[in-house]
Amino acid sequence: MENKVAARRFEGRVAIVTASTQGIGYGIAERLALEGASVVISSRKQKNVDEAVEKLKAKGIHVLGVVCHVSDAQQRKNLINTTVEKYGKIDVIVSNAAVNPVNMPLLETKESILDKLWETNVKASILLLKEAAPHLKKGSSIIFVSSYGGYQPQPSMAMYGVTKTALLGLTKALAAELAPNVRVNAIAPGFVPTRFAAFVTANEATKKSFEDITLLKRLGTPEEIAAAAAFLASDDASYITGEILIIAGGTSSRL
Ligand code: NAP
Repeated sequence: MENKVAARRFEGRVAIVTASTQGIGYGIAERLALEGASVVISSRKQKNVDEAVEKLKAKGIHVLGVVCHVSDAQQRKNLINTTVEKYGKIDVIVSNAAVNPVNMPLLETKESILDKLWETNVKASILLLKEAAPHLKKGSSIIFVSSYGGYQPQPSMAMYGVTKTALLGLTKALAAELAPNVRVNAIAPGFVPTRFAAFVTANEATKKSFEDITLLKRLGTPEEIAAAAAFLASDDASYITGEILIIAGGTSSRL
């Protein structure tokens, strides 16, 4: 789906998007930049950061690229400091990084893997915001990337789902803690055929089974997820905080 963006809601704003060299994070970074934001993209590998910066440049979009493994304290600090040194402030943080290293039942998952899931998907988000907090001010906005699976953890990726459930609680907790100056919301995407969710399109039958659980009978796109994230991050959502927006084509999740 092509990105047709008319709005300029982020003119003069500065946005950080973690895990943004491909997939949903890249889509969100592109959308915010198209709407006028100065965007800082990041991920673990310098090569991926460089390639994403170049790919966006080829489309006429200029972003700053910084290496940041979200579980690395020094790299988190560097991401925040580099942004503030270059742009002087932070208006939007999209905490998008997550891993799912195994597909197995919760009670068969090794403790080290449980720790890794918790640390990357939940704890690193808190620690990044701790680092960013002194730079957030009235009107700043935070978006967590949860998942529709946070409402109903899938059996094969249960602990991953539980970390996404935790982000829903984190959204509520931090919205209260950072109010009234900073808004905190989350998005909960359904299935989007990225590298992370490559299993969804492994073959036609599998793809169809994932399409069939949606009311719209198709998978989502990074651009559609990005549009929802941009709405919540923008002043159009100025009276929304502590909320979760599900973008899953009507997949059954919650009332
Ligand atoms: P993706 O296309 O596989 O992209 C993952 C991105 O994260 C890459 O840029 C990768 O670059 C970076 N990354 C991976 N581990 C990282 C880490 N520890 N620190 C920093 N960057 C890291 O994944 P995606 O599907 O867009 O997923 C993005 C988010 O959406 C995740 O939170 C995921 O849980 C959520 N989500 C996805 C779906 C879906 O169906 N795709 C559905 C619901 C929710 P490097 O390799 O260079 O680090």
